[in-house]
Amino acid sequence: MIPVTTLTEHFETWLRESREQSGDFIVALIDKILAGAAVLSASDIHFQPGRNGIEVRFRIDGVLHILGCLPLEHSGQIAARLKVFAGLLTYKVDVPQEGRVRSGRIEGVAQEMRISSAPTLFGERIVVRFFSPENQCQSIESLGFEKPVQQYLHEAVARRSGAVLIVGPSGSGKTTTAYALLRELAYCRETTRSIVSLEDPIEHAIDGVAQIEVSSRPDSGGTEHGEKFRTLTLDRMLQYMMRQDPEVLMVGEIRERRTAEAAFQAALTGHLLISTFHGGSAVESIGRFLELGIEPFVLRSSIAVLLCQRLLRRLCSCSEKVEQQLEIRLQGKNLTVQHYFEPRGCPCCGGTGYAGRIPVSEILPLENEEIARAILERRATGTVQLLAQEQGMTPLVDNVVRRIETGLTSPLEAKRVLGH
Ligand SMILES: [Zn+2]
Repeated sequence: MIPVTTLTEHFETWLRESREQSGDFIVALIDKILAGAAVLSASDIHFQPGRNGIEVRFRIDGVLHILGCLPLEHSGQIAARLKVFAGLLTYKVDVPQEGRVRSGRIEGVAQEMRISSAPTLFGERIVVRFFSPENQCQSIESLGFEKPVQQYLHEAVARRSGAVLIVGPSGSGKTTTAYALLRELAYCRETTRSIVSLEDPIEHAIDGVAQIEVSSRPDSGGTEHGEKFRTLTLDRMLQYMMRQDPEVLMVGEIRERRTAEAAFQAALTGHLLISTFHGGSAVESIGRFLELGIEPFVLRSSIAVLLCQRLLRRLCSCSEKVEQQLEIRLQGKNLTVQHYFEPRGCPCCGGTGYAGRIPVSEILPLENEEIARAILERRATGTVQLLAQEQGMTPLVDNVVRRIETGLTSPLEAKRVLGH
C-alpha cells in the first residue's frame, strides 16, 4: 500500500528542508508553506500565536486542519516576512493591517492573495487568503449543481429584470455561484449587455464588466494601511451607477437596509440584479429582508430567483459503500438514507477521504400564488416553509440525502455542514 502523506508530514518535511537550506530559516519556511498551500489547494493559512507556540493551519475545502506548531520566538519574524509581501508596515504591530499580493510575486505561488494581521495576546495573528486562480473561474456547468438547477440558473441570467439572489451562510459558495452567473452574462456571444458590478474586494478582472471596488460596510473608510481607502459605500455607488445606463448589476453582498432598498429598486426598474445574501434557508432570507425593513410587496415583485445553497465536501473515489439503511437527523429533521458511502483516505486526497466540494441547493418557487400571498401577509418563517414544501419545493436536506445516496458526500459531512 502506498503510504498516505498527511498534512503534518508535509509540514515536518518543510521544516527539515528549511533547516538544511543555507540562508534564513524563516524565509525558507514561509516560502515552502505558501507554495505548499497552493499545491494542496488551501484557501487560507493561519499563523496563530498562543501560549504553546504559533499554530500553523490550512483551510482546505472549508475545513481547518492543524499542520504543526512553531516556537513563539519566531512570531515577530514570521509576521514581518509576510507583511513585507503585502506592503504592510512591519514596525506597526498594534493595529490591524491588510494588503494584497499580486500573483507571481512569490516564487512558486501563481495566485493572488490577501494578507491580514491583527494584534493578539501572544503576538500578531497573520491570515493569508488565496483568491482562486483565474483558470478556476467557473461556468454554471462546472459548479456541480444537479442538471435541473443548472437549467434554472441559465434561465435566471436570460431574464431582463428582477433580482436573482443566492442565499447561504458564509462559506456556502454563494459568491462563487454569483460570479459564475456574471461570467455567463459577460461571455455571452449573442447579446452584449451593459454590465456593472460592485465588489468588496474585486477578486478577478472579468472582460466586459465594469467592476468597481466599494466598501460594503456603511460609513467605513476602508483600512488604515495597506490597500487604498475605500470610501465609496455600496448603496451610494449603486444609486449613482443607475445613471450610467446599466442593464445588469451585480452587488457582491446585500448586508444592510440601504443597499437592499437600492438593489430592489434597480430590480423593479428594468434591471437584472445579481446578489448574495446571508441566510440559513430560502424562506428564512425572506424573513430577514422583512426584518431589515423591506416591504413585502417589494420582495414579492422584485425577487425573481431565490436559491439557497451549501457546500459539502465531495467524497474521493477511495470511498467505500455501506449497504445499510441509516437514520440521520439534519437541521432538526429525521431522514432515512437507503445506503451510503464512507470516507477512507488515499494519496490522492491527502488521507482526508475528500477531494473538492459540491453544492446542494433549494429553490423557493416565488411564482407560486400561495407563497406570494404568504409573503405579502408576513406569515411566520415556519408557516411559509411548510407551505413551500406543500407547493413542491424540495428542501435542502432532502437534496442532501440524494447526494449521500449517490455517494457524492458522506452522512458525517452532511452533519458537519448542516447540523443536527
Ligand atoms: Zn482518496
